[in-house]
Amino acid sequence: MRVFTLVLALLTIVGEIEGQVTKDSFGKTADGTPVDIYTLKSGPIEARILTYGGIIQSLKIPDKSGKSADVVLGFDSIDGYAGVKPNPAYFGALIGRYGNRIGGGKFALGGHTWHTPVNEGVNTLHGGTQGFDKRVWKAREIPHGVELTLVSPDGDQGFPGTLTAVVRYTLAGKELKIDYSATTDKDTVVNLTNHSYFNLAGQGKGDILQNQVKINASRYTPVDEHLIPTGELAPVEGTPFDFRKPTAVGARINDDHEQLKRAKGYDHNWVLEGGRGTLREAAEVYEPSSGRVLTVLTDQPGVQFYTGNFLDGTITGKEGKVYGHRTALCLETQHFPDSPNHPAFPSTELKPGETYHTVTVFRFSAR
Ligand code: BGC
Repeated sequence: MRVFTLVLALLTIVGEIEGQVTKDSFGKTADGTPVDIYTLKSGPIEARILTYGGIIQSLKIPDKSGKSADVVLGFDSIDGYAGVKPNPAYFGALIGRYGNRIGGGKFALGGHTWHTPVNEGVNTLHGGTQGFDKRVWKAREIPHGVELTLVSPDGDQGFPGTLTAVVRYTLAGKELKIDYSATTDKDTVVNLTNHSYFNLAGQGKGDILQNQVKINASRYTPVDEHLIPTGELAPVEGTPFDFRKPTAVGARINDDHEQLKRAKGYDHNWVLEGGRGTLREAAEVYEPSSGRVLTVLTDQPGVQFYTGNFLDGTITGKEGKVYGHRTALCLETQHFPDSPNHPAFPSTELKPGETYHTVTVFRFSAR
């Protein structure tokens, strides 16, 4: 008996060091498609990923005293994600084909104008009415994680070309890595991201205004009244958009600044420093009460820093928590919004024979 207990304990320890992956059922969508949840473990860190929308459903990380909390917003059951009002704020989801906005729901490519569904004012937001966040992805276990695959047919949500997207979530050490790739059979555009809402104090635990945020960017892309970039890369210097030194989110969020008024707070794309295509530190968030730190690394040219301005207490999430105004923040690594309509922005075009590939890492620590 003793030997058995010892072996079991050893296996548990090895499992935690090596990274465990388990799969369970998470129910079914309205049309009866089964949805699974993969649990990834690395030491005290645990991430749970849904095959529906590739959603990070929960993410448990320790604070400075080792106490664990779930630091992402979301729902306890499939109904919140795929029910009558499916995940209206895109909690935790993989976004595609095009993260953020396409102005006027159209863009030109290959001498043709392509029309995408207008689902927010005059824009296409997050890939259209049936974006990748609302699909059930094929899944298989891989070392330390799960690989998700989605084949988006030619003309899906108005986009040209059959796009095959493969996203790998892996959890090792203190890092959750998201590795995205995609190929196409016709010229198209692609911009994938993850839409996790972080509250490092713990989901549902108040607002994020005391969080200290650092963003490695000296420019950002100001927006017009429809939240579409004007095309300008404006300096952050001397504005409430300067996060080059760690600054509390709430320190300037209510400043009398036209851009903050338009977006009801921060909801902008920052132009990241450093070589595009190189994995480098994009942003860091420090939550003073728990000491938890999130460091975001990416090879993407931009990051959308969104402070949950549109959360208004109408969504009740996990453990009955009501998600009020600015109770979470998003750091969506990405190409700039509306790039297909801005030839001067880094290109989001993908051609047959090419592979779109990008990596983002969420690194956790506490101090
Ligand atoms: C957008 C916000 C939007 C949010 C949820 C963010 O990426 O920039 O404007 O409200 O996603 O859809």
